[in-house]
Amino acid sequence: MKTMDYTIVENRSVARQVYRLVLRADDPSFAAGGEFVNLALDGFFLRRPISICETEPGRLVLYYKVVGEGTKALAALGAGARLNLLTGLGKSFDASRCRSKALLVGGGLGAAPLYPLARELAAAGKEMSVILGFGTAEDVVLEAEFRALCPDTQIVTMDGSAGMKGLVTDAIDALSPAFDFYYTCGPGVMMRAVSAQLGTNGQASLEERMGCGAGYCWCCSCKTTDGPRRTCTDGPVFDVDKILW
Ligand SMILES: Cc1cc2nc3c(=O)[nH]c(=O)nc-3n(C[C@H](O)[C@H](O)[C@H](O)COP(=O)(O)OP(=O)(O)OC[C@H]3O[C@@H](n4cnc5c(N)ncnc54)[C@H](O)[C@@H]3O)c2cc1C
Repeated sequence: MKTMDYTIVENRSVARQVYRLVLRADDPSFAAGGEFVNLALDGFFLRRPISICETEPGRLVLYYKVVGEGTKALAALGAGARLNLLTGLGKSFDASRCRSKALLVGGGLGAAPLYPLARELAAAGKEMSVILGFGTAEDVVLEAEFRALCPDTQIVTMDGSAGMKGLVTDAIDALSPAFDFYYTCGPGVMMRAVSAQLGTNGQASLEERMGCGAGYCWCCSCKTTDGPRRTCTDGPVFDVDKILW
């Protein structure tokens, strides 16, 4: 874990209530590791956890949705504003669990943490199918980025305004993609349905409400077959067969 000051390079709306935040680290050699960062915002006691979408030395890209006061305040910040981030948090998806072909299933901004995984799988020469579900066409993010890595990327919207109409589970039924391991991130209800459909050979990234985000307060504990586990430090990625939904 490490705190680092960043400067906002870009904070731009890219979909309905969704922003792409590009940050430059004060230390140009610093690359944030882990699955997510915890962002401090002026006037808010608790930091806000946001998944890492891209990280490289000196640069970080996040996608966030405005859902409450904290993310609303974040959306009001412009280029040049400074942010303090707690970095190196959480365990990431394990690309090595896939032998040769992965299935990635995202819901909404659950697509963001799946993107670095997709890059890792592609770099390792592994095949993948990607299914990304959204409410409507205005919500779709990261489609071009995934397609550049994986031509077999399917968009699904609940109202049919982009891609297939329905839920990600409908797309899985219709397409029956081959895979030896799957990865999922999105709303809990979606991941629960996906794991019921696909079985236990997968990993899911949970998004429990967090307090400290650093393992001290246990606010984000979730139920697993090994007992309660902290989403922030023991997760947020867990093997699906360990999660007691
Ligand atoms: C590991 C992890 C990764 C996440 N990645 C992303 C991401 O990439 N993009 C994105 O848009 N959102 C992500 N979230 C959800 C994001 O943290 C919340 O939407 C955000 O904190 C809401 O803050 P707010 O002040 O706008 O809302 P409020 O409802 O006012 O927040 C009040 C408090 O609840 C916490 N909180 C609220 N909703 C959530 C939630 N769903 N999960 C966890 N804590 C929450 C906040 O941190 C804050 O402490 C992630 C959550 C977790 C746990």
